[in-house]
Amino acid sequence: MANKTVLVTGGSRGIGKAIAIEFAKKGYDVLINFKSSVEKANNLANYITKNFNVKCLVFQADVSKEDDCLNLYQFALKELKKIDVLVNNAGICLDMDLHDRTVGHFLDTFKTNVFSVFFLSKLFADLMFENKYGKIINISSNNSINQFYPTSIDYDASKFSVNSLTKNFAIQYAPYVNVNAVAPGWIKTDMNICLTDEFMIEESKKILKRRIGTAEDVAKLVTFLASDDADYIDGEIIVIDGGMF
Ligand code: NDP
Repeated sequence: MANKTVLVTGGSRGIGKAIAIEFAKKGYDVLINFKSSVEKANNLANYITKNFNVKCLVFQADVSKEDDCLNLYQFALKELKKIDVLVNNAGICLDMDLHDRTVGHFLDTFKTNVFSVFFLSKLFADLMFENKYGKIINISSNNSINQFYPTSIDYDASKFSVNSLTKNFAIQYAPYVNVNAVAPGWIKTDMNICLTDEFMIEESKKILKRRIGTAEDVAKLVTFLASDDADYIDGEIIVIDGGMF
């Protein structure tokens, strides 16, 4: 039987990389999308191909652009014939004083974090619906639910929009396509590299588990949501933040 297939956007680093590896461990053929980290994406594909008995492809595309999303979709169909699971993971976050924030910053953030989810979900959900099978998992953030930082006001709003897209797509593509989001708290990746150790230590004190999360914590939840065991979970936003209120 052919392996199941997954597309992970922003899969070259951080949470996306851990998600790609976790799916490969579970026997999925993996398509990794990235924007500019060519070497990292290729190294990851080599690692996956060598260590797991699956196919792993890479495709460079800026998912904030509709044309690039279409190219990614066409590549996926040509090489893998179908995509069973789409993980909309690519995202950006720019920390900045609210007073310096412009509409341009909002647009950049929304193009990558929100419009990409709309473009790709529309393309792949149509196909999944035709196949009567599919799972879409969007990577949101607990900044959309219970943690708010004025220094990331545009990011927080973008993730709130991702939650709304999640529910609308779940309704539109029911009953065949499950659409859920996961909303992580602090996860140790390049995205937080600009934050000081002192700040992160103070933040970890607010977490019931008393630690910053790992990309693998998130990846395990994502692969669970993609599994048949999670078939009755649809249109949900699931927080994974070690307990933050
Ligand atoms: P990283 O900065 O570590 O990695 C971002 C990834 O997204 C990279 O693979 C990058 O590709 C890719 N990417 C960025 N812009 C684009 C684009 N326009 N087109 C294609 N790929 C793009 O981030 P994280 O791993 O931390 O974040 C992954 C997701 O998790 C994001 O949606 C983020 O908002 C969310 N999240 C992260 C949290 C955290 O604390 N880290 C907490 C909550 C949510 P390239 O390498 O080529 O630049």
